[in-house]
Amino acid sequence: MPFDEHEFDYDYFVIGAGSGGVRSARIAAQNGAKVAIAEGRFFGGTCVNVGCVPKKLLSYGSHFADDFFDAKGFGWDFEKEPTFDWATLIANKNKEIERLNGIYLTLLNNSSVDIYHGYARFIDEHTVEIDGKKVTAQYFLIAVGGKPFIPDHKGAKDHAITSDDIFYLKELPKKLVVVGGGYIAVEFASIMNGFGVDVTLLYRGEMFLRGFDEDIRKRLKTIMENRGIDLRFNSDVSEVTTKDDQKIITLLSGDKIMADQILYATGRVPMTETLGLKEANVNIDNGGNIVVDDHFKTSNDRIFAVGDVINRVPLTPVAIQEGHFLADYLFKDNDFSMDYDTIATAVFTTPSIGTVGMSEEKASRDHIHLDIYESEFRPMKYTLSGRQEKTYMKLIVCGQTDRVLGCHMIGPDAPEIIQMAGIALTMKATKADFDKTMALHPCAAEEFVTMRTVSRSVKS
Ligand code: FAD
Ligand code: NDP
Repeated sequence: MPFDEHEFDYDYFVIGAGSGGVRSARIAAQNGAKVAIAEGRFFGGTCVNVGCVPKKLLSYGSHFADDFFDAKGFGWDFEKEPTFDWATLIANKNKEIERLNGIYLTLLNNSSVDIYHGYARFIDEHTVEIDGKKVTAQYFLIAVGGKPFIPDHKGAKDHAITSDDIFYLKELPKKLVVVGGGYIAVEFASIMNGFGVDVTLLYRGEMFLRGFDEDIRKRLKTIMENRGIDLRFNSDVSEVTTKDDQKIITLLSGDKIMADQILYATGRVPMTETLGLKEANVNIDNGGNIVVDDHFKTSNDRIFAVGDVINRVPLTPVAIQEGHFLADYLFKDNDFSMDYDTIATAVFTTPSIGTVGMSEEKASRDHIHLDIYESEFRPMKYTLSGRQEKTYMKLIVCGQTDRVLGCHMIGPDAPEIIQMAGIALTMKATKADFDKTMALHPCAAEEFVTMRTVSRSVKS
């Protein structure tokens, strides 16, 4: 796209230095544009500060509980049972996050991107204001992400915490209630269970992780229950109150649960309220998400938006690729089209889930004949450790074209394995391609290339 380099302060002004914004700003600058970025809170955005990174560090921390248990079957013994100190983990995690904040700033500085500290707000179509400073630009990118949403359950906003808070709790709760049934709810229920916290998860529907493959959801349910997590489905909240140091959550059924902390993991909302979008003629949908076309253009030709704020697939690598493609489109004339069909994703529960492509439920709506291949086995490591959990793997294959439409796993290392399956599905691999791939032995992943028997055919 052509741009006039003299009329404005910048060619490209990016609002929000999270996953999408930082990548887009850096690539635009590398492509020769004069770029600035504004960040109101933390460099690196949600992922680095209160999302993927600290979550994964806590997940690693929580896994040691399993490792200590499993080690005994391999001859390791401890004079006394290992103990866990939450404050040490949080302090070390905070140090790492500070290091990453610094890296993000350095990356931007090294790419010659000007940095504005503060929240930006449009005052007209070409101008934003940050802390009283007015800045103009030819093009703008809105990459402001989202924030946790707490529904209007009486008392919840006053007495419950969100994922933003849990990363900074001073003390590990003894009893935690988690409300929600999405990624954050199941991940934190699992992480806290690993630390020995007594966890109850309340989900309003029949079964958590809506949209994931049903066989995976069912197995996660069984495993979480066997690990002592109190799962309550069809449970909605009426009220949250406090008494002394305790929080009390009352369900619509009338049941009451006491807890030290109540974590609401009930989705996220876009940070668009105070952006001045009316002044910039940028349209939003009913949920406050910015409406964009295939090239991330908003209702204003010069203003673009990527990442969580457009609410397509709210994942870090997606925001990064959207921001990158856009910067190449605007300042390198590279056209693009996003492929949202084969995004590999993981749920960092214990054990973890990895998935790419369609669930069986989605595939059976779109295809008239499916062949399902499944493998369920006790991981070799557990034969000595005594753990009874099983790994489950599943391939969904189109009966007409032989294409692998979905690849799902619950078990140790599922995210690491599924990332590679993502390449195969992106390349439109067939089951025959999987079959001719030589296995790597012995490992769990080899099951994906050695499943030969159809466990069931689904015809519609
Ligand atoms: P963000 O990363 O949210 O960045 C937006 C930035 O804009 C923020 O820094 C914000 O402070 C800033 N900002 C907002 N308004 C303004 C303004 N007016 N002016 C200036 N700055 C502003 N995704 C994964 O892929 N894997 C995971 O394991 C994973 N785990 C997660 C765990 C949790 C607990 C959460 C909450 C999310 C997780 N996600 C994960 C999702 C991932 O974090 C987001 O999809 C990703 O961060 C979105 O990037 P973004 O650039 O759209 O927005
Ligand atoms: P999700 O959208 O995944 O889940 C929200 C959950 O809250 C759903 O179970 C939903 O129920 C429930 N809910 C929504 N509104 C209400 C309400 N009024 N009352 C009761 N329950 C309600 O959001 P999260 O907050 O868990 O995560 C946000 C996003 O961040 C995710 O969608 C994901 O894209 C990303 N993320 C990714 C991770 C990863 O990659 N590992 C980890 C964490 C987050 P229902 O299903 O019935 O609508």
